[in-house]
Amino acid sequence: MKIFDKFKSYVKQLNDFEDNISENRRELQAIYERNQILEKEIIERTQQLNQANKALLTLQNIWDMMNSSTPLSNALDKIVESLHGEFGYLFGAIVEKVDNTEQDPYFLTTSYTKCPFFNAMKVYFKREVEAVKLRCENDGILMRALENRSVLSTNDISGFVKSILPEITNETRLNEIIEESGSKLLIVLPLKPESRPFGCMLVFSPRTEVLEDEVRFLELFAQQMELAVTIADLFEKVKKQAITDPLTELYNRRYFEDSMQREAERSERLNQPFTLISLDLDHLKQINDTYGHNYGDMAIKTIGKVLKRNARSIDIPARIGGEEFNVMLPGIDSAGGLIAAERIRAAIESEKLEKIGKITASIGVSTYLEHTKSLDELLEMADQAMYRAKVAGRNRVILAKEHERGNWQQIAIDAFMDILSKQRIPVSKSLSEQIRSKLERVSTSGATVKEMLYSVSDAIARTYDPVHEEGITKQKVHLAVKLAKQLNMKKEEQDNLKLAMLLYDIGNTMVPDEIFKNPNPLNEKEQNFIQKHPVIAAKEILQPISSIAEVIPIIENHHENWDGSGYPNKMTGEQIPLSSQVVLLVDAYTALIKPRSYRPAMTKAEALAVIKGEAGKKWNEQLVSQFIEMMKDEK
Ligand code: GH3
Ligand code: MG
Repeated sequence: MKIFDKFKSYVKQLNDFEDNISENRRELQAIYERNQILEKEIIERTQQLNQANKALLTLQNIWDMMNSSTPLSNALDKIVESLHGEFGYLFGAIVEKVDNTEQDPYFLTTSYTKCPFFNAMKVYFKREVEAVKLRCENDGILMRALENRSVLSTNDISGFVKSILPEITNETRLNEIIEESGSKLLIVLPLKPESRPFGCMLVFSPRTEVLEDEVRFLELFAQQMELAVTIADLFEKVKKQAITDPLTELYNRRYFEDSMQREAERSERLNQPFTLISLDLDHLKQINDTYGHNYGDMAIKTIGKVLKRNARSIDIPARIGGEEFNVMLPGIDSAGGLIAAERIRAAIESEKLEKIGKITASIGVSTYLEHTKSLDELLEMADQAMYRAKVAGRNRVILAKEHERGNWQQIAIDAFMDILSKQRIPVSKSLSEQIRSKLERVSTSGATVKEMLYSVSDAIARTYDPVHEEGITKQKVHLAVKLAKQLNMKKEEQDNLKLAMLLYDIGNTMVPDEIFKNPNPLNEKEQNFIQKHPVIAAKEILQPISSIAEVIPIIENHHENWDGSGYPNKMTGEQIPLSSQVVLLVDAYTALIKPRSYRPAMTKAEALAVIKGEAGKKWNEQLVSQFIEMMKDEK
């Protein structure tokens, strides 16, 4: 090959090589560019993600707050905290405007980043940051931001602090504090949720200027805060509705019971009493009958007003039922409770109502730890004292007495003791001994008498009825008394009913073993016997106990049917004592919801349907509808 050709070939190779390189370079360039686009996209996406995370965090905070009943301020603390670090912010705070008629409006710091700046302020003022009032100047930066709904900023942090805190005299120290914090700029964001004039968010930045992006971000952030506050306010409103009685705006029964439960735990832990005031409006029926229901309602509202006016912030005044009110006074003993109750009584008496004129109330007072350590008994004792106030002439306050621990309970203890000691029922000797020693202890100790009676009654019932369940007596008594209250039964009638519920099936124990154990179907005579005997036996067992004389007719007639098809006296309609009808109804209901060998347990709805089916036959129709109504809020 000639040298020239060789050279040409080299040149070509070189050119090819160069082409190759530039080809590669182009490819590399393209990859690089693609990478850049991707990187940019990744950065944008990350920013979007961060933004979304931030929004989520805010929402998460709102959500947590709504689920945990944390006050709004806690949620705002968290939100303020989450702003820290964003755009390099140093710290932040929320100031809330306080408007009241008595003094000029001012601001209070409700949330702030825990940081050296606020620590130094705390030390300077020797007070919590939240307790320091901030001056509200009409042309100040806070009000301007609020009024124009715009994000404002200033580099004169020292001037701003002095304007809201004119009592700062040591300017050198103030400037030091600001200097040490590193903040060069204060940004003020207005917060104006729909529900109230709220306030501003203050953000401290290490830069001297606000960036364009920053304003948009902060505006978004402020909107989220407003949303948080609006939702929180709405939630508060809903929560409030769930715990208040609409007519009086006092707490409702459920809230009261929950509070009392909590208070009892606290009370025992700290060994500190609390007092329960039980109040019933006098002669409401008469007011309703004379002036109409609206005026009755007005009387009830007036009681609500008086109770609210006389309550300390920690007291819990509640409407328990139609014309029944309770007030719980944490930390108050019976002496203090009496004074508070008397103040309430006098305040009610001094109210002047349109048309009606004066109203009065009867009040019972009982104190946890002093009178009893059981909430049931506490309520019972206040109720009994209130009832004594009624009997004594109304419009007065009466304190529960130790021995008042349920009169019916003492009678029930005596009745059980009598039955057991005289061997009127054939319970085994060991059980009889066990029960007796329990009862003896009950009558002297402070144990929960009611619970004990229920378990004794259960124990006796279990000796002849193997499927009898623990706790069923308690449930029966509870249902019977609730129904009795709805029927406006008098206190003594309610007490007798409670006794009847404890004692009515005691006669079952007297059914001869031969009949119980007989595997063959019962003949008519035996059927007749087993039907009627328990009632007769109960009468026989209970008759000698004079203190329960009034209970016997209730028990004797608790198998009478409304249409006359019952036994033993074949009574009809109104002839049958109302209490006997209640016993029959409650007994039937509790039997239906328990399983039997021949059928499974019924649900509440099924049992009520069966009962409804016999309305007018076994029991009074009106009683049945009241029972069904009452069972609506029963678990
Ligand atoms: P006492 O002094 O013995 O308490 O007499 P009283 O009439 O207030 O009590 P009673 O228990 O005999 O009657 C209570 C009445 O209150 C019966 C019921 O119709 C009425 N009542 C219950 N709730 C309301 C209510 O919300 N509004 C009105 N107007 N009346 C109610
Ligand atoms: Mg009343």
